[in-house]
Amino acid sequence: MCGIVGYIGSNRAVPYLLEGLEKLEYRGYDSAGIATVEDGALRILKTKGRVSSLEALIASQHRSLATLGIGHTRWATHGKPNDVNAHPHESANGRFCVVHNGVIENYLPLKADLQAEGYVFRSETDTEVIAHLLEKNFDGDFVSTVRKTTAMLEGAYALCVLCRDFPDRIVCTRWGSPLVLGRCAEGSFIASDISALLAHTNDIFYLDGNEIALVTADGISFFDKNGAPTQKQSRRLELNISAAQKDGYDHFMLKEIMEQPKAVGDTIRGRITKEGKIAFEDFHLTDEEVQRLSRITVVACGSAYHAGAVGKYVIESLARLPVEIDIASEFRYRDPVLDDRTLVVLISQSGETADTLAALRLANERGAKTLCIVNVVSSSIANEGGSVIYTHAGPEIAVATTKAYAAQVSVLYLLAGYLAEKKGLLTGDAFAGYVRDLLALPDLIQKTLDSCRGQMEAFSQMFIPLEHAYFIGRSLDYACAMEASLKLKEISYIHSEAYAAGELKHGTISLIEKGTLVVALCACSAVFPKTLSNIKEVKARGARVLAVATNAENAALSEVDYKVLLPDVNPLFSVSLEVLPMQLLGYYTAKNRGCDIDKPRNLAKSVTVE
Ligand code: GLU
Repeated sequence: MCGIVGYIGSNRAVPYLLEGLEKLEYRGYDSAGIATVEDGALRILKTKGRVSSLEALIASQHRSLATLGIGHTRWATHGKPNDVNAHPHESANGRFCVVHNGVIENYLPLKADLQAEGYVFRSETDTEVIAHLLEKNFDGDFVSTVRKTTAMLEGAYALCVLCRDFPDRIVCTRWGSPLVLGRCAEGSFIASDISALLAHTNDIFYLDGNEIALVTADGISFFDKNGAPTQKQSRRLELNISAAQKDGYDHFMLKEIMEQPKAVGDTIRGRITKEGKIAFEDFHLTDEEVQRLSRITVVACGSAYHAGAVGKYVIESLARLPVEIDIASEFRYRDPVLDDRTLVVLISQSGETADTLAALRLANERGAKTLCIVNVVSSSIANEGGSVIYTHAGPEIAVATTKAYAAQVSVLYLLAGYLAEKKGLLTGDAFAGYVRDLLALPDLIQKTLDSCRGQMEAFSQMFIPLEHAYFIGRSLDYACAMEASLKLKEISYIHSEAYAAGELKHGTISLIEKGTLVVALCACSAVFPKTLSNIKEVKARGARVLAVATNAENAALSEVDYKVLLPDVNPLFSVSLEVLPMQLLGYYTAKNRGCDIDKPRNLAKSVTVE
């Protein structure tokens, strides 16, 4: 999920590696390391903390004359951020070392097999299996050894590998995580992100999925997954570093919106076992404890609270457990009733949200079972929770969350399916169908983003002059309306409100007048006819209505002014599609109003104060 650099050429490698790692620092990371080959041996230096700490460590050692090396900034997904878990990771016999971005989804069975064969693991990472597999698969040919190894991996990876037997080459490959290469007079460069290459060249080779690059000081050769050589053209890019860091998007927020298919896929896929079951790594409730649960309380702040609202509907519907949702700053001061049959689920992207952390401590003190859903490994909330399920959204830089929210919602779907299965309420074909629909989500998210991006950019025009907007919906659509409204207001500074559609006529409808913009979320088929009545109510009072619904409801929406149609989807997962046009609406409206999208006024990414 974080940064990779590599260099081989006529100059000393270490300064290039450090310079490249510094260029990747903007992404956020928790540790850094490099490896070189010197005097027939691998030399690895790595440390928890900043690239400057790595620099100090390197300066304290003898000066490296190596002309090839690889480097990494780690953003932990598996195992604490510490020196041992930092990359590169070395094979037991010291022949190979590897740096890895991404998540190896089948690392647990691979690790068990390797341990049974006597391989000893030093770290808690998923990555270390790759180092041992390289050793195990070594056949004298560097490229073929890497090929055999990646054939055994499932998940997402960008890899750069050094082998002490080949001090004149680096081999790299990728699947699901990016890797780019470049050549110039100084040699060959590798990076996970073009911002680390641009100081040296604008001619970039984009490695395709499963393609392997053999990189030497004089050139780069490319091979397909069967080992056959391929011809590759570089692409000339005229991007500056700031645009490159955003993958060419204007803002991190848009980049992160577009990364949601991957964030959701990375979060879901590793939790589905070969047998088609749902499994979590750090989930410590026994089956008996799950059976004994009497209720769930979801505690969170901001968008994480809105994710919890989605969880409420899905968990109640499938696992038949009552679910309360609570705002962390309210929960912690209201003397909540908790016991050991209550599961308190705490959700926080950063894992450092002060109110959520205090709520967790309170729940722990009162003897409730606790489960934390966080994006940052080994954060305070992750460390103190009874169980943890990580969202594998990768680092999120924009203050307004998009992909972390999407990943939180996905974890709640997984949790709902898991609890329902353990309670015997979702079994056999119904369970298999649920899992199939979950696995189909990343593609549906991609399809929705592709189809509605241009449309939302156009619709945003009518929001630009607004002072107020309203979002209505029922059931899951209401959960989505809350997030949609927050997305618009937090970055565009337009006042907006989310209402449960049935609640309008108990007060808020008096605010509707000619021209008021109402966004009606109605992807939830079970309550569609009811929301349609509410649409008619606001239209009768002069509102303009933008409706978001699935294709199936198209015909019934003839009276609305504007509509966005979503692919048909398992109704329990509709929010995962419905929220996408809403994120884009917030984004384009804020952009057209000239707002500071990635850093909205008065807001911080990680709220570590009360
Ligand atoms: N999954 C790997 C780890 O936790 C790689 C993380 C990254 O992409 O930085 O070490």
